[in-house]
Amino acid sequence: MAILCFITFLELLIFQSTRQQLLTTRTPARISYTWGLVFIEQRFADKDYLPITGMAEFNKLSAELIFGFGSPAIKENRVTTVQCVSGCGSLRVGAELLAKHDGHHVVYLPEPTYGNHPNLLSAAGLSLKTYRYYDPKTHGLDFQGLLEDLGTASTGAIVLFQASGHNPTGVDPTRQQWEQIRQLVRLRGLLPFFDCAYQGLVSGSLDADAQSIRMFVCDSGECLVAQSYSKTMGLYGERIGSLSIVCKTADVARRVESHLKLVIRPFYSNPPIHGAAIVTAILKDRDLYNEWTTELKAMSDRLAKVRQQLYSALCSRGTPGDWSHIIRQVGMYTFTGLTEEQIDFLTKEYHIYMSSDGRINIGGLSSKAVPYLADAIHNVVTRT
Ligand code: PLP
Repeated sequence: MAILCFITFLELLIFQSTRQQLLTTRTPARISYTWGLVFIEQRFADKDYLPITGMAEFNKLSAELIFGFGSPAIKENRVTTVQCVSGCGSLRVGAELLAKHDGHHVVYLPEPTYGNHPNLLSAAGLSLKTYRYYDPKTHGLDFQGLLEDLGTASTGAIVLFQASGHNPTGVDPTRQQWEQIRQLVRLRGLLPFFDCAYQGLVSGSLDADAQSIRMFVCDSGECLVAQSYSKTMGLYGERIGSLSIVCKTADVARRVESHLKLVIRPFYSNPPIHGAAIVTAILKDRDLYNEWTTELKAMSDRLAKVRQQLYSALCSRGTPGDWSHIIRQVGMYTFTGLTEEQIDFLTKEYHIYMSSDGRINIGGLSSKAVPYLADAIHNVVTRT
């Protein structure tokens, strides 16, 4: 009897905490409690197949999010958007489409770039080239190198850009630099393919973080955009994203959509439903949307605050070198400039783990841990 009472008590505790969690996280679910068991029923009971191109409402809202509500390209029906399997899936579908058609078989990637970019694009059959992007001497953009490399790319080549919060360097071009890049890309007849995985997390503004893309859409030229909701909505495992292709005319956009169906159908047939339902619920509900944008701003403010704390901690310790790149770089990542040998030492002596290229995910650093990291960096830099 005592055991039974204890089990019931435990079940009630689980029920209460699950209920509380659902209420506070506003998870779109319904809960019921029967015979001591907690059932979480998805409000999105619909588990039918989606169309090959995904959920129409999700596609519409995603396009508006990235190009801006009232974007002329959307109004003129020059944009075709398809739901894909997150950012990586969107990149891959775009690459598959381009690889099937003449004239777009070479893709230029920034050096360095997100580790999966080369895999995703070469697996689709594209030939990879790189353009200079990061300057280790300044820890900033190698703008001259970028212009020189894209200036010699052949007409029709695809250029992969990261819209904002460049992974792994945290280095983004300024607005003026983007404008020069845009002019060069159009002059040389290159095809821009944007990867946007951090919209809203970099500056705290969804519009500002999509600015680079919108500059390319404003000029009525073509471009591709892969969007990911993994980081921006914390939906990593839902694998939800979209691919938008901005075309010159509505007729081309219609034809591009049917070609996209030909890519997707033999690939994974149609995309999963649940992540799209979550994103759609958030984007179309004013309260949820406002709550989401407030959280994005809070996260981007925290990233900036931790950057500042790390920079100040190194300055106050008199750590040799210029560490201002930590506050000049933006978004989730910072390229510390530490060498592989120094990183090895940090791992062995301090159990501090980072990529061997010196990249830190600022999102994973708490204010409390900053002094420990600063002490460790100071010691490794001053070590003889
Ligand atoms: N693109 C960039 C620049 C990324 O940094 C990442 C993930 O880290 C991705 C794409 C992949 O995103 P997803 O998890 O949505 O496929």
